[in-house]
Amino acid sequence: MLEFDNVEVYYGKIQALRGISVRVEEGEIVALLGNNGAGKTTTLSAASAIVKTHSGRISFAGTDITRAKPWDVVGDGLIHVPEGRRIFSTLSVLENLQLGGYLVKDKAAVAKRLKDVFELLPLLAQRRSQQGGTLSGGEQQMLAIGRALIAGPKMLMLDEPSMGLAPLIVAQVMQVIKEVNANGTTVLLVEQNARAALKITSRGYVIENGLTTMTGTGPELLADSRIVEAYLGA
Ligand code: ATP
Repeated sequence: MLEFDNVEVYYGKIQALRGISVRVEEGEIVALLGNNGAGKTTTLSAASAIVKTHSGRISFAGTDITRAKPWDVVGDGLIHVPEGRRIFSTLSVLENLQLGGYLVKDKAAVAKRLKDVFELLPLLAQRRSQQGGTLSGGEQQMLAIGRALIAGPKMLMLDEPSMGLAPLIVAQVMQVIKEVNANGTTVLLVEQNARAALKITSRGYVIENGLTTMTGTGPELLADSRIVEAYLGA
């Protein structure tokens, strides 16, 4: 469904991606693992066309999106949930969710998705009038996921959803991601918390220094001594 073929990205003279090749099939949850600065966020940004791809090719649902505009990518159904959640802190939970449907012309579809999000995340329904900025970190992450779902994604790209959250809350967020996937949305997940990510993913890729260097199924990667040493804190 989403494919990166030897993608290279520069920030000015600095080369951030030196050859990223990643394939996500429809229905999968795929994780990108790697240390700080390895190029995980840039990989997502290249797909959502926030940064320019220097060379290589990115395709989504059969369309070449290498040179697409960000709004076209969103329109195609590829939705990026950025690191740090980016909740509008003075807007209510409901208003934050409604913003997710801003580009959607079919308002009946938005109303139906809002109902579905409140069913999946009842906490957001209870707190619909509360200001976004007063939610806890975990609740804000749920709101960011809910807001992305209102846009009607075929595929979600989630950047470090576990960042700054307590282990119990990380498990809840991962459970929500699993449910979103079970309901039919393909997921590409960037995580430093490799252990949490690999529990719910079908496959993972390791990114080192702008290159994809390793790939395998969740259990394969969890059993790989190099992964354990580098990313699981053994
Ligand atoms: P992190 O988990 O810390 O966000 P990451 O794996 O997501 O790490 P990126 O954020 O993609 O890594 O960064 C890849 C490289 O590109 C790093 O060397 C980083 O310093 C550099 N970089 C990222 N954004 C910019 C920018 N806007 N301008 C210049 N260099 C950048």
